[in-house]
Amino acid sequence: VAAGIDSDTLLAFAVPDGIRPLRDRVAEFVEKEIQPHEAALSYGGPPARTLAKELEQKAKAAGLWALGAPREWGGGGLAHLDYSYINEVVGRSGPAVQILGTIPLHTCQMIDLVATEEQKRNFLGPATTGEIRLAFAVTEPDVASSDPTQIQTRAELDGGEWVINGKKWFISAADRADWIIVMARTEGDDVKRHERFSMIFVPVPSAGLVVGEELRVLGLNSIISGHYEVFLDDVRVPAGNLLGTRGQGFLLAQERLAWGRIYHCMRWLGAAQRAFNLLCIRANSRQTGGAPLADRQLVQQMVFDSYTEMQGARLMVLDAAAKLQSGKQARVEVSAIKVVCARMLGRVVDRAIQVYGAEGLSQRLPLEIMYREARYGRIVDGPDEVHIQRVGRSILREYREGRDWDFGYR
Ligand SMILES: Cc1cc2nc3c(=O)[nH]c(=O)nc-3n(C[C@H](O)[C@H](O)[C@H](O)COP(=O)(O)OP(=O)(O)OC[C@H]3O[C@@H](n4cnc5c(N)ncnc54)[C@H](O)[C@@H]3O)c2cc1C
Repeated sequence: VAAGIDSDTLLAFAVPDGIRPLRDRVAEFVEKEIQPHEAALSYGGPPARTLAKELEQKAKAAGLWALGAPREWGGGGLAHLDYSYINEVVGRSGPAVQILGTIPLHTCQMIDLVATEEQKRNFLGPATTGEIRLAFAVTEPDVASSDPTQIQTRAELDGGEWVINGKKWFISAADRADWIIVMARTEGDDVKRHERFSMIFVPVPSAGLVVGEELRVLGLNSIISGHYEVFLDDVRVPAGNLLGTRGQGFLLAQERLAWGRIYHCMRWLGAAQRAFNLLCIRANSRQTGGAPLADRQLVQQMVFDSYTEMQGARLMVLDAAAKLQSGKQARVEVSAIKVVCARMLGRVVDRAIQVYGAEGLSQRLPLEIMYREARYGRIVDGPDEVHIQRVGRSILREYREGRDWDFGYR
């Protein structure tokens, strides 16, 4: 090891030895237990829910459930960085994120930051073990919610209760949530724009709360991808259902997303790995004009482009993860990887579809489901443009203030 470089730094790009056995077990579970049921799980309906429950029980029995959540909540207690490598293999099948209990983690981490002891007792353990489900509701139909300072849902205190009015949409799992964490405007115009919103726990069912139509994303309705309208009409909840303090909603939402985005990106890399495997297998096995596709330079270009995009994205994600782990905020890095990885996945899956011809577009291969996920990846958790703007602005500010963006020292 060269002077000044510790071995951990060098090894961070490959999966560290300590995490490999567990990661291999997760990969095997995903391949043997989840991938064979992917189509049934992804096209949804009540039978898929029963199947998902059975697979969740298997994951729990195998000790692979909620590996990134603290042990005291009922999880596996892995450190963030270690769990990032696990997410890379979780991403090899879309439904795995639910079957392996990964979904509630970032919401629970956010709750843990500011919740009262009672809220922690009520939500952290039960959500982690899957006893209760939480949905998270910010987005609204009538305003561009990528600028959430525009959201119109209001909550007003009346005696000892919040009275909430508004409408939300694209709220994942709202149909089966026991609680919806609703972002609502609680403060007046005299308060700064970003400090006017709060998060409030709303139980389901509640008088005045209606879960509306499912909004199918590119036709997909599945156990994990059901996204719903939610209408709130004079919904009353106790004042103590506020999460944290008044006006803290956005700050908390940001906290929710930093590690969540790393995990997302690692899962997208895992999905890209699967598409890349399929692409390479097909290139070697399919013949045209007396030669395998692999001999065609146009196909070699696809392999080259996919390899460089995946490798570049992976190094960027691990760099961002290492920075977060060391206590840096890494806002530029996290915004950048969210865009780079979602785009990378879309392109790699697209190439894999292309080399399979018509079959690539059909339910015989997982690629069509992956393609849809890749496409919406460019919109969820902030559309590309919002992140691009944030990165551009932050770097330009450094120069305006007389510094530069020296990659060697970042
Ligand atoms: C599968 C899926 C699951 C989701 N789950 C949830 C959930 O559980 N809870 C929840 O609250 N929301 C959820 N959402 C909603 C998601 O978070 C929002 O769609 C996203 O934040 C964008 O908001 P919007 O749809 O209102 O788009 P808008 O804000 O209307 O933006 C539309 C487009 O405008 C462009 N744009 C925006 N800002 C800029 C800019 N600064 N510069 C240039 N162009 C710009 C972008 O191209 C953007 O896509 C989900 C969405 C999907 C697709």
